[in-house]
Amino acid sequence: CKNTQSDLLCANRVEFTQLAADYKAVNLGQGFPDFSPPQFIQDAFCAALNGGPSMHQYTRAFGHPRLVKSLARFFSRTVGHEIDPLDDILVTVGAYQALFCAFQALIDDGDEVIIIEPFFDCYQPMALMAGGNAVYVPLRPGSAVLSSGDWVLSAEELTSKITPRTKAIVINTPNNPLGKVYQLEELQMIADLCVKHDLLCFSDEVYEWLTYDGAKHVKIASLPGMWERTVTIGSAGKTFSATGWKVGWAISSGNIIKHLKVVHQNSVYHCATAAQEAVACGFETEFELFGTPESYFHQLPAMLHHKRQKLASCLQSVGLQPIMPEGGYFMITDISSVKCDLNDESTKYESYDFRFVKWLTKEKGLATIPVSAFFSPEHSKEFDKYIRFCFVKENATLDAAENILKKWN
Ligand code: PMP
Ligand code: GLN
Repeated sequence: CKNTQSDLLCANRVEFTQLAADYKAVNLGQGFPDFSPPQFIQDAFCAALNGGPSMHQYTRAFGHPRLVKSLARFFSRTVGHEIDPLDDILVTVGAYQALFCAFQALIDDGDEVIIIEPFFDCYQPMALMAGGNAVYVPLRPGSAVLSSGDWVLSAEELTSKITPRTKAIVINTPNNPLGKVYQLEELQMIADLCVKHDLLCFSDEVYEWLTYDGAKHVKIASLPGMWERTVTIGSAGKTFSATGWKVGWAISSGNIIKHLKVVHQNSVYHCATAAQEAVACGFETEFELFGTPESYFHQLPAMLHHKRQKLASCLQSVGLQPIMPEGGYFMITDISSVKCDLNDESTKYESYDFRFVKWLTKEKGLATIPVSAFFSPEHSKEFDKYIRFCFVKENATLDAAENILKKWN
């Protein structure tokens, strides 16, 4: 990291995860399921491990052949473009490494990267590590903020941030932490600017299957003129509830992916073979089941829909108004009405939400994440009265959180 602010951002997530562990808190902080992946994909992993010597050795550096074939077949259908498995896909160590390769390969010294806030917190340090400068445009809450859809992106504000040095716009839909699912019109507006100003788009779509109440995930790469300038990033961890497997991918035109391959080849080289084999099986299964009730991409959001309702009802019952997410793993809520005594001297110079989250973890045993961590230094003060809850948890975990909230409130 080149400056202290990004050092801070890098440290935050690690710090809160450690705090949750130290205090053995009920963990609605870090975004991972505390339940197992579906049986079919666990079986696929076991079969891969028992699949002979090649499953335990190196595979193709840019992606295990069976996996890139299954990803190409699957996503050609959803993106509406014939994806070449060998040229247009890079398999990475989770979506994190796909993002890292995109920033390192495509952002040069002095390039400006527009990041829409709130943003997944690694984008800013990754832009800086590549030598770029981060430029921020916040989604702003409207007058009634009951849903993540009430947070909107101003076309004027976004346009005003584009300069001759702008290289890329980074979007995340469904968004972490807000849960916003960008609508077609919003994506079209961003796409028009990308085409007009010849910009790249990094589209982080790790939660693409997780939409609720009829919200529809649209791939910006599927819009006219966008395939050749969009890097779409995905995660098997989020797709199959197996975040520990750390399999992700970047998909784009071969002319772009070839640059990401250079970064990958000279840093990580290739990803775990058996995990890639299992993810390939998962996509083959899902290709056949796509659009049916048996599909995990149907079952997971259906299950999470209930968990989202459960957490929302719990927050409402203790007087906290959740902002209903249209997608993703997370729900944020305004904590300004909560009465608490934040008298911890050790945190007195930190922002309100950071202090609140530390207090909640240490004193009440419930771990969450402060939302200002997802904003730039210039905007974080405006958004320091929200905290983020992850609802991708066993009902027992959500019940334990509810008990804590109800007891003290
Ligand atoms: N992007 C977003 C928006 C995320 O929330 C996460 C966290 N899972 C990642 C990327 C990284 O995903 P992975 O675990 O596959 O590296
Ligand atoms: N994406 C998950 C989250 O936002 C996990 C990422 C992390 O722990 N760095 O909580």
